[in-house]
Amino acid sequence: MSGIYLHIPFCRKACHYCNFHFSTSLKLKNEFLEALLLEIDRKKNQQLSLETIYFGGGTPSLLEKDELHQILDALNSSFNLSQIQEITLECNPEDITSKQLESWLELGINRLSIGVQSLNDTELRLMNRNHHAEQSKKSVQLAVETGFQNLTIDLIYGTPWKSLDEWENELRWALNSGINHLSAYALTVEPKTALAHQVKKGQVQEPADERMTEDFMLLQKLMLEYDWDAYEISNYCKSGHRSKHNSNYWKGSAYLGLGPSAHSFDGSLTRSWNISNNALYIESEKKGNPAVEFENLTSIDRCNELIMTKLRTREGFQISELGKWSEKFKSNNFIFLKNARQNGWISDFKNFISLTNDGKLISDYIISELMLID
Ligand code: SF4
Repeated sequence: MSGIYLHIPFCRKACHYCNFHFSTSLKLKNEFLEALLLEIDRKKNQQLSLETIYFGGGTPSLLEKDELHQILDALNSSFNLSQIQEITLECNPEDITSKQLESWLELGINRLSIGVQSLNDTELRLMNRNHHAEQSKKSVQLAVETGFQNLTIDLIYGTPWKSLDEWENELRWALNSGINHLSAYALTVEPKTALAHQVKKGQVQEPADERMTEDFMLLQKLMLEYDWDAYEISNYCKSGHRSKHNSNYWKGSAYLGLGPSAHSFDGSLTRSWNISNNALYIESEKKGNPAVEFENLTSIDRCNELIMTKLRTREGFQISELGKWSEKFKSNNFIFLKNARQNGWISDFKNFISLTNDGKLISDYIISELMLID
């Protein structure tokens, strides 16, 4: 099954750690919306077996109800939405009111992803977030009371600003708050962000590996204690509440990206991405000359993507999924895999490869070692 991803490229403030594509000026919002509707119409003949719609960004919750309505109407006119099971909207706590929540439910949005990030007000301020902890708690409570059955929040760990005890309190609050899904990300210092600049200037301490490890291990311990499904390195849920949209990415299914910077994949060997510039995206859609780049993948590229994405999941991957490259994979990696097994990084390597918690901590290294080279 496939999904549609819509990138809403506007935010009220720039969070210091963020390297997504967005603008803090809303002056092009109306023109963006017109361009997005043009792109939807232009792509209407694509045959997709759609299961999910995901409004990401940026901050989709700053769209008005009638703007979301127009987008959903356009999608409905252009694609077969009869099999849609999950419509997710990313939202920030400061945008959540009873009125907004009711309007999102009326539009058919059945899953909210709330950008809580932290419950430490000092940390939120240092990250340049636009909300405080109490607002986050109230927004989750309000979403539960309004009747949202599927709620996920984002939290960030491994930061230099909060203690292990505070991290535990955040997690325990989350696990008892009524949500059924959690995305937990380690703080990374991305190039060209305000955080990277602050670290370089010595104004902010670089996230420490030891803190990252302690926070990650505590996260795994609590997921076990609460019997949650640790189904992907950054994603956790109550049984039966995995994100359908993201799970389709990890399965290698096709997806259609709409809006500036959005990526698409045909489920086979072609990937494409829209320009990451709001003004140029708008101009190109108006002219009917889309600013998009394509990449044709080789079968080795596909195998490497499969290794990269599936190794992050609880199930890992089956070596036979690499098809004609299975034998090469085994012979190239036998010694590395044997050592990784001895070091306790992977659980087995005969047919399936999956990471242990120790392995998840160094997943980037393990994945880079396992990549196939033509
Ligand atoms: S609200 Fe989200 S997308 Fe916008 S700057 Fe912050 S983290 Fe990035």
